[in-house]
Amino acid sequence: MKNLRDFTHEDLLAVISELGERPYRAEQIFRWVFQRRATSIDQMTDISKAFRERLKEEYAITGNTVLEVKRSVDGTRKFLSELADSSRIESVLIAEGDRLTLCVSSQAGCAMGCKFCMTGMSGFTRNLTLAELSGQVISAFELLEGTEHITNIVLMGMGEPLANYDNVLKFIGVLTSNMGFNFSHNKVTLSTAGLVPAIKRFGQEGNANLAVSLNATTDEVRDKIMPVNRKYPIEELMAELRRYPLKSRKYITIEYVLIAGLNDTDDDARRLSRLLRSIPCKVNLIPFNSFPGSSFASPSPERVERFHYIIKQAGYTVIVRLSKGAEIQAACGQLRGAYEG
Ligand code: SAH
Ligand code: SF4
Repeated sequence: MKNLRDFTHEDLLAVISELGERPYRAEQIFRWVFQRRATSIDQMTDISKAFRERLKEEYAITGNTVLEVKRSVDGTRKFLSELADSSRIESVLIAEGDRLTLCVSSQAGCAMGCKFCMTGMSGFTRNLTLAELSGQVISAFELLEGTEHITNIVLMGMGEPLANYDNVLKFIGVLTSNMGFNFSHNKVTLSTAGLVPAIKRFGQEGNANLAVSLNATTDEVRDKIMPVNRKYPIEELMAELRRYPLKSRKYITIEYVLIAGLNDTDDDARRLSRLLRSIPCKVNLIPFNSFPGSSFASPSPERVERFHYIIKQAGYTVIVRLSKGAEIQAACGQLRGAYEG
């Protein structure tokens, strides 16, 4: 059986024409699957029974199985989903003021091997399909309470989204289609560890905000904590970001995980300010979140404050991203996809 959640509107047009049906059927099916979140083909009541039966011979609608939902005192919810091959992934709903952000995983595990990241230290299983990517959004909708609605989507969960380029691009299409989830392009953000050729391609083809995890100001340190730097060193990455096409009023988000004694000195802050010159950006400082088995530590609040001050004095918009849901292991870098029961 093929899963209808794996089909873009364009894919459906091809399916429909193959079946000898009129093109508007593709839009009907697409809307049922993503906008109305149908769980079976039988729910598609504006499609003739005969055609539904025909579809059911080859197609079904299959979701991820939510095994566990954890709720933190700050309103953050983390959910663990099991996929058809029993891979497990995690997604997080983060409540902050009037924003409710869904943090989506793009891969089961991650092959990038960053040393400060629990996902990276747990290895790589595989890329997620369009159905598994959008399944996380549909599962999240089911967790909403009262008048809650998701305002932002970030591809910042498990995995490197640009290493799952094709499915992620389709997913952004479904997220932002007015026949799909209907999010505005500027409410969707993709975060990458810095795959330079894919950033370039995304700049041409992608339509969502870009965030880049920089995390160090010298190749020596970045090589140590982010193996990707040996392939795409800082200067190459910065050159690509300087060329990156931005629409008016848009900027790149630069993420910087602050690790005590490693990348958090005044010199680092000054080097960071220099590196970012002539890149329209906002800086997110993320104090390191620890996890079992990690050898790094988070800087003191004073150190974070001082680092923040130097970047701010250099004229940048900079915030310290406070970790949400740390006690349920839902903060940045703490996702592993493990079932704790
Ligand atoms: N793979 C992508 C997106 C997922 S990681 C990327 O690396 O950008 C999302 C963010 O979490 C990245 O900015 C990463 O640097 C950060 N992160 C990873 N481990 C962390 C940890 N232990 N503490 C704080 N932030 C962490
Ligand atoms: Fe992968 Fe991002 Fe974690 Fe690095 S920080 S291992 S790229 S998920």
